[in-house]
Amino acid sequence: MKRLSIIVVTAAVIIGGVLWFVNGSKGGKTTQHDKLHVIATNSIIGNMVEEIAGDKVDLHTIVPRGTDPHEYEPRPQDVSATQEADILFHNGLNLETGGSGWFKKMYQNAGKKNNKEVYAVSKNVEAKHLTDAGKENELDPHAWLDIQNGIKYVKNIEKVLIDKDPKNSSTYEKNTKAYVAKLTELDKGAKTKFKSIPENKRVLVTSEGAFKYFSAAYDITPAFIWEINTESQGTPEQMKQVLAKIRGSEVQSLFLESSVSPKAMEKVSKETGLSIYSKIYTDSLAKKGVQGDTYYSMMKWNLDKIAEGLSK
Ligand SMILES: [Zn+2]
Repeated sequence: MKRLSIIVVTAAVIIGGVLWFVNGSKGGKTTQHDKLHVIATNSIIGNMVEEIAGDKVDLHTIVPRGTDPHEYEPRPQDVSATQEADILFHNGLNLETGGSGWFKKMYQNAGKKNNKEVYAVSKNVEAKHLTDAGKENELDPHAWLDIQNGIKYVKNIEKVLIDKDPKNSSTYEKNTKAYVAKLTELDKGAKTKFKSIPENKRVLVTSEGAFKYFSAAYDITPAFIWEINTESQGTPEQMKQVLAKIRGSEVQSLFLESSVSPKAMEKVSKETGLSIYSKIYTDSLAKKGVQGDTYYSMMKWNLDKIAEGLSK
C-alpha cells in the first residue's frame, strides 16, 4: 500500500512537471513574452512607435482614431493591455493626465510606475502654457504640432525602446534616422512656404487653441474659440473674442479639427461669411487608408491646407 502511494505521488509530480514545462514554453500570460508589449495613449504616438519599431514590438493604441484624447473612458481591452504592458508611452503636458486624468488612474490601478514602465514622449520639449486668464500655470499639451518637437518625441521613444530591448537596437536606430530625415525635410519646406504669405493673413482660426506650438514654429498668429478641449466649448464670450480677432485681420479661411464637433465653427462661419477651408488634424490621425493617417502625412496635410487657406 505504501509502495503504491509513493508511485502515485511520483507520477503526479512528473505529470505536473511536464504540464508546467509545456505551459511555460508556449509563452502564456504568466511567462516572459518574446516581444515587448507597448502601449501608446493615442494614434499619433502609436504611429511614431510603428515607424521606429515596425513589427519588433506588440503595440496597443488606446484612444481610437477620430476620438479626443483629453477625456476618454478606457475600454476593458485598454485596461487589460495596460496590465500586461512593458512600456506605456503617453504625451504628458496635461493631455491624458489633464482634466479627469483618465490615463493616470488607469496606469496607477495597474501598478505601473513613471520612468519604470510609463514614459512621457514630450520629455525635453520646451513647454508652452495656456494663455486664458487664470490658466497661465497650466501646460499646453499640443507640442507635436511643431515638427521639431515631434522629432524630440521620436528620439525619446527610440531611447526607451533601445534601453528595454537592446537586441533590436540596430533596427530602432536605422528606422529613427530615416524617419527623422523625412520629418526634417517636411519642416524645412513648410517654413519657406509660410514666409511668402502676408502677415495680416497669417492668422489660423481653429476651434481649440491647439496651435500655439505650430504657430510659433511657422510664424502664424493663432485664433481659437476655446483654449482646450477639457473646457466648455463655444460660449458667447468665447465667440465674441474669436470674431473680434478675425475681424481685426484679413484672413479669409477657417479651419475645423477632425476630432471636435463642427457646431461652433459653423456658427463662426455664418457670423463672418468666411468658409471653412479644410478639416485639419490635431489630437488624432485620420482613419487608416486616407491622407493624414500617419504623423508625417497628418502634418503634411495640415501644412499644405493651412498654407493654401491663408494664401486666399
Ligand atoms: Zn487638444
